[in-house]
Amino acid sequence: MIFLTVPFAEKDQAKALGARWNAAQKKWYVPDGANSALFEKWHPQAAASSASSAGKSVMKGASMMEVGLTITGEKYLALDHDCIPWEPCAHCDEAIARHKASFAGK
Ligand SMILES: [Zn+2]
Repeated sequence: MIFLTVPFAEKDQAKALGARWNAAQKKWYVPDGANSALFEKWHPQAAASSASSAGKSVMKGASMMEVGLTITGEKYLALDHDCIPWEPCAHCDEAIARHKASFAGK
């Protein structure tokens, strides 16, 4: 049995792919006979390697740097949105675009 590291926000996605909840372990797992490759991004090793290189807040900061925003000072943009920092998010992309536009004329 392969246990998965599934963020709360992705539990419905994991469930839709066929992951099962183990109440005793309080963990999602890949049931026997299921294609474990479908669940690769939640395999504990995959989660551990991405978590060790950078925390969530660091990754959010990094993605903001990529779009040319500073993370301190007057151009600081707080993305007050309950989404997954490293996944594309239409809501946040729009907020960033609007924020950048507000500084474009200066
Ligand atoms: Zn968002």
